[in-house]
Amino acid sequence: MKIIIVGGVAGGATTAARLRRLTEKAEIILIERGNHISFANCGLPYYIGDVIKNKKDLLVQTPEKFNKRFNVDVRIKQEVIKIDRKEKKVIIRNIETNKNYEESYDKLVLSPGAKPINPFKDINIEKIRTLRNVEDSVEIKDYIENNNIKNIAIIGGGYIGVEVAENLSNLNKTKITIIEKSSHLIAPLDEDMAKFIHKVLRDKGINVILNNGVKEIENEDDKLGIVLEDKKMSADFIILCIGVKPEDMLAVQADLKIYPRGGIEVDEHMRTNDEDIYALGDVVKIKNCVTEEFAHIPLAGPANKQARVVANNICGIETTYDGSIGSSILKIFDYNLGMTGINETTCKKNNIQYKTIILSPYSHATYYPGANMLNIKAIYENKTGKILGAQVFGKESVDKITDILATAIKMKMTAYDLEELDLCYAPPFSSAKSPVNLLGNSIVNEIEGLVKTVTWQEVEDLENNNNFEVLDVRTDKEYEEGAFNDCIHIPLDDLRNRLNDLDKSKTYLVYCRTGLRSYIACRILSQNGFEVQNITGGYHYLTCI
Ligand code: FAD
Repeated sequence: MKIIIVGGVAGGATTAARLRRLTEKAEIILIERGNHISFANCGLPYYIGDVIKNKKDLLVQTPEKFNKRFNVDVRIKQEVIKIDRKEKKVIIRNIETNKNYEESYDKLVLSPGAKPINPFKDINIEKIRTLRNVEDSVEIKDYIENNNIKNIAIIGGGYIGVEVAENLSNLNKTKITIIEKSSHLIAPLDEDMAKFIHKVLRDKGINVILNNGVKEIENEDDKLGIVLEDKKMSADFIILCIGVKPEDMLAVQADLKIYPRGGIEVDEHMRTNDEDIYALGDVVKIKNCVTEEFAHIPLAGPANKQARVVANNICGIETTYDGSIGSSILKIFDYNLGMTGINETTCKKNNIQYKTIILSPYSHATYYPGANMLNIKAIYENKTGKILGAQVFGKESVDKITDILATAIKMKMTAYDLEELDLCYAPPFSSAKSPVNLLGNSIVNEIEGLVKTVTWQEVEDLENNNNFEVLDVRTDKEYEEGAFNDCIHIPLDDLRNRLNDLDKSKTYLVYCRTGLRSYIACRILSQNGFEVQNITGGYHYLTCI
C-alpha cells in the first residue's frame, strides 16, 4: 500500500508514525511545504519571548531522524498542488526547483492545517506579521530586536494573541497593545471570567482595547496607522492574531465535501466523501461532544488523536473519533486559565436550559503555606446537574481541575458524580474535599432544593425591585472595607440572634466573601421561614469582575 500524507506537523507526522508502527510494509510519503516537519507550533510564542532560547528546541523531529526511526520518505519544501481523485495521484511542486511531478497513492491523508487570517497582507509585509511556523517566529523576533521597535499592536485577543502579548511584555522592551473587536478576550470564555484576564494583563502594563475592530491599517512614515472603529492609533509593528482558516483549497479543487464556511467534511472514521482520502486536524470540522454540532476546533490534542484514528482505519483497525470538547489552557504571567466544554453563549445559542455556579476554593489546604484562591465557573444542565462547561482561573492546580472537569464532561458526568470522585489529597496538593467535590456538592445542594443561587447579574437586574434585599453576612471588618451598595449587614455569627431585624415578606439575596458563609446563612434563614437566595461567587468575585 502506498500512502501519501499532506502536511508534516501535528496531524501529518503523527499519522505517519502510527502507520509505520502498525505496518512495516506500506510505502509512506510525507509531503511538507515548509522547511520543517513536526515542529512545536505551540512553543512559538515562547521562542519570541526568549523562554525557549534555542530555535532547535522547537524542532521535535528532523526529516532525517524521522526517516531513520520510521522509514518514512519525508519531503520538505514540497507542496501538493493538486489531487487527481480519478487517477488516484497528486501533483507535487518542488519549491526549490519550481518543478512539478506526480505521485500515485492508494490512500491519501490531508493534514494541511489552517492558515492565519490576514486581510492586510498588501499593506506592509515586513511590519504586519502572522505567526504560524518556526520561520515566522524567528523573523518576528529578529525584526523586533533589530529595528528599535518600541510599540507593538497585537490585533486579536485569542489565546495566541494573549500568549504573544505576555511573551513580548516579559522582554520588557516594548509597549504592548492588544486590540479586540468583541467585548472580551479569549472567545471561549464568558465575559465575566474574561475580566480576570483583562485585569492581569492591564496590571502588567499591557494596553487592552476591547469592543473596537480594526477598520484599516495605513503606512505612516516609519510607523503603521491603525484606524479603529472610534479612534486612530499607531504602532511600530503589528502581529495579527485574528484567527485561522482551514487550508481546504486542495480539497475544494478535488471536489471533496466542504462545509459552507470552510472545513473538510469527514465521517467518524475521519474519512472524506472519497473512501481513499482521509482528513484531520485544523482543516476539518469535528463534532462538539456537548452540543453535537460540527465546529472548527483548531487544537493540537484533537489533531493528534485523530491521527491515530486515521492510521488505524487505513490499516484495517476500525476506530472512530467521537469529537472534542475544546479543552484548552493558557498561562498568563503568574496565572493560568483552563477552559473546557461550552460557555453560556453556546448554551443560549443552542437553547440549553443551564445554570452557572462560581466557586472560589483554595488550591490546597490553607494551613499549608502557599495556598492560592481559585475561581471556578461551572455550567450545568439545570435539572440533571450534567456538567456542560467549566472555566478555571488561578495560580495553582488550574490544569488539574480543568482536566478533571474535562473528563467529567466527556464522560457525561453529573454533579452527583463529581461529589463521589475519589481524588488524591495531602495538604500541599489539595483539600480533603477537593474543589471538584465541592463543586459537585454546591450544584447538588441547588438541585435538591437546599439553596437557590443567583448571579450578580441577576441581582443587578433586581435592584429596583422592593421585594428583594441584599444581605451581607461577612464580618464587620470586611463590611467596612467595602460592600455592595444598599445592603443590610448582619455577620453570620450574629444572624440567629437577629432574625427579628429581617422581614419575612422579602426575599434576601445573601452574600459573603466567596459564597460559603452565605450558604450557611441561607440554610439558617430558610429553616426559619425566610425566602433566600445565595449570590454565587460572593463579594470576591464581584470585585474581581
Ligand atoms: P499543522 O500542525 O499546522 O500542520 C500543517 C502543515 O501542513 C503545515 O506545516 C503546512 O506547511 C503544511 N501544508 C499545508 N498545505 C500543504 C500542501 N499543500 N502541501 C504540503 N504541505 C502543506 N494548540 C493547542 O492545543 N495548544 C496550544 O498551546 C497551541 N498553541 C499554538 C500556538 C501557535 C502559535 C499556533 C500557530 C498554533 C497553536 N496551537 C495550539 C494549534 C495547534 O498547533 C494546531 O491545532 C495543530 O498544529 C494542528 O495540526 P495540523 O496537522 O492540522 O496542522
